[in-house]
Amino acid sequence: METLKHILENKKCLKLICGAGNENIKEIEKLVYVYAMAGFNFFDICAKKDVLIAAENGLKRADSQANICVSIGLQNDVHVSKAVINNQKCINCNICLSVCPQNAIYIEDNKCSVDEKKCIGCFKCLDVCQNSAIITEHKYKAPHTMLLPLISEKIDCVEFHCTSDKTNEIIDNWYKIRSLYKGLLSICLDRSKLGDDYIIYMLKEMLKKSEPYSVILQVDGKPMSGGENNYNSTLQTVAFAKLINDAKLPVYILLSGGTNSLSTKLAKECEVNVNGVAIGSYARKIVKDYIQYDNFFENDLLKKKAIAVAKELAQDLLKYL
Ligand code: SF4
Ligand code: SF4
Repeated sequence: METLKHILENKKCLKLICGAGNENIKEIEKLVYVYAMAGFNFFDICAKKDVLIAAENGLKRADSQANICVSIGLQNDVHVSKAVINNQKCINCNICLSVCPQNAIYIEDNKCSVDEKKCIGCFKCLDVCQNSAIITEHKYKAPHTMLLPLISEKIDCVEFHCTSDKTNEIIDNWYKIRSLYKGLLSICLDRSKLGDDYIIYMLKEMLKKSEPYSVILQVDGKPMSGGENNYNSTLQTVAFAKLINDAKLPVYILLSGGTNSLSTKLAKECEVNVNGVAIGSYARKIVKDYIQYDNFFENDLLKKKAIAVAKELAQDLLKYL
């Protein structure tokens, strides 16, 4: 099996982001299967044992030994937050149902609710609710405690979502994670929420006790942007990668946040060096119509169609890496 470090050094890393908060195990098994069949070599999942088993099952079905990363996050980082509906304020207009990319919102007994396991915290529902009936919730567990039950499992990377201006909290959690897990770590930062100077300062602090190239930096340009396939969506992550190139930090760089089939092409055209790409919303969106069926694994035509679109995406991305 090709190690993750080797893949990164060869600048051929294709990572599928299943969603740091996505606990929908049926969807995860299908996503991992489809994208492993398409040649993706890295999978990013929520740090829960049942989710890890689902991802491993997806890899087994594809006969793949691709790498797995588990994601943990600081309180209030959007990637690990969920939407909750306040039924005192909700007027059942159903507008939020139509924008949820995960089909996580449902109506039962005339009450609108969010399926916590399906919600990935994109907050598109919150943006459209005109009655302020949706709030964000983070059932906070310290990141290292999320990791404890998975330490003895076969994982290839741990990703830390740490978009916050609370430097001490970030550093404290970062070193707790480092002391627990000796393999490759990944940092996911959202440039749209933090200033450039702060990001570089924070990263230099976090990298102080790390060997060169023992950390992946996932440069989240426009997180959970909805999966549009245009240059505008992916521009921010390329600009973020350029910032890291210019700072000459000894990290592997993965484009993410607004990534789509044009991301590596834009990076190449802008002469921005990256080690690969992490892709979530867009990748999930293009296979959604096929994997939504309960009998997906029994239906060869659905599998074939899903793998074909995933392969096309992989080829578009690899062409410019
Ligand atoms: S958009 Fe707001 S008011 Fe409408 S169904 Fe959703 S939560 Fe309720
Ligand atoms: S729109 Fe996003 S935040 Fe809202 S319920 Fe759906 S997945 Fe969760």
